[in-house]
Amino acid sequence: MNEFFSPTLDPRRPKEHIDALPAPGGIRSLYDSVCFCNRCNSCAQSCPTFRLRQEEFFSPRGRNQILRLVLEGKFKIAPYRRLIEKSMASCLLCGACAAGCPGKIPTAEHVLEMQRALGVRPLPVLLHKILSWRTSSPRLFETTAALCRWAHNSYGVKLLRACGITRLPFLRWINHADDILPHKITFLRQHLKKENPPHNPGVLYLPSLEAAYLDGSLGLAAYQKLQGHQPKVLFGVSSGLFEYVYGSLRRARHAAQKLMMSAGNGSTPVVTDSADVFFFIKNYPRLFSHSKVWERKARRLAARVRFIADYLPKKPQIQGINRVQIDKSALFSFENEAFEKTEKIFRVIFKKNLLHYGYKDTPTPPFGYSFRKENLSKEVCFCRVKDIARTQTDAVFFLSGLSAMELNYWLKKYYPSAKAEHIVRLNG
Ligand code: SF4
Ligand code: SF4
Repeated sequence: MNEFFSPTLDPRRPKEHIDALPAPGGIRSLYDSVCFCNRCNSCAQSCPTFRLRQEEFFSPRGRNQILRLVLEGKFKIAPYRRLIEKSMASCLLCGACAAGCPGKIPTAEHVLEMQRALGVRPLPVLLHKILSWRTSSPRLFETTAALCRWAHNSYGVKLLRACGITRLPFLRWINHADDILPHKITFLRQHLKKENPPHNPGVLYLPSLEAAYLDGSLGLAAYQKLQGHQPKVLFGVSSGLFEYVYGSLRRARHAAQKLMMSAGNGSTPVVTDSADVFFFIKNYPRLFSHSKVWERKARRLAARVRFIADYLPKKPQIQGINRVQIDKSALFSFENEAFEKTEKIFRVIFKKNLLHYGYKDTPTPPFGYSFRKENLSKEVCFCRVKDIARTQTDAVFFLSGLSAMELNYWLKKYYPSAKAEHIVRLNG
């Protein structure tokens, strides 16, 4: 179909769009991928936003059909812009629909493409600006992050909240960040001050944003899991996932190129603690389909990337936890390699006490996407807490740190006998 008719969303800015989407049957163009959605609606009940709203606009099928009609020129954006933006911005990018879809259609990827075409910035402007410095000005980012850490740890943010300053519409996200962040923010660098990086590292550890700058103890736990392999931490670089989701593809490529240069050409594995980052790097080559040289480099790095689950102790010691769940929500969850490994370990430890929630149950918004405007993450998290309480679960393990922080906040509020943890907290 692609050879006959392959419309693009934004022909004037081709480099701002992905022209190769990974799918179980191979690589597809955006239009092909959208056309593979046969409107069966099997995914509807796995989509948290549809379950909450029961409207087609909030379902994966609805989002796919909007995109298809826009691509075919049968649905003009201008008159319905507000409605389309609402439908796309409310998607949590949780990937649950892909897991529930017989064809593993990557709806979250389609939504991202539509957001790029609409030019919507689903993050609060100030937060987006600060986070974008991670790629463009790492030093400025570190200084700003240190200032924010100081404000949070010294109750400066609490003071701002008490004065009502964070009730201003463009600063409201600060309240949310303050709620979900750990009581004390620490950087991974602080924890590793006395460590000397090895000359010939056995693994390169790429910490996620949360492990490097929000909860250093999370990064430290991951680092300790790698201790037997002579780890070296890749500070000051990022995978580009943030830019891929919230910013421009140009910046995502730029971050990816920096990471490829920092990781070098060797065969040393690059390990990350976030399932989202892992899947994103695995799919690096499609970012560079316009450059043979970078595509080759991206392929090499994709072959080297590992998820921290590979380095978990085979028999972790767990105390005081009986019934557990693993949360599989992730942007690229149509690929389940990381989940399978984690689930295998959990099945051995917890046996019958590993509770599965079927695909009809509500996932938690992954990767702190709850900062997106107009999404329904509060309601989604609340549904999740109800499910945890109903099944009397003691702990929910995540494959990304920010998701665990997000759910922990709601658990503390409504069901404090359970907690959310990243899987790196499992100790051997
Ligand atoms: S995304 Fe998949 S499950 Fe959902 S309507 Fe399309 S084909 Fe069916
Ligand atoms: S990614 Fe999540 S919120 Fe978005 S359409 Fe799929 S299931 Fe629904």
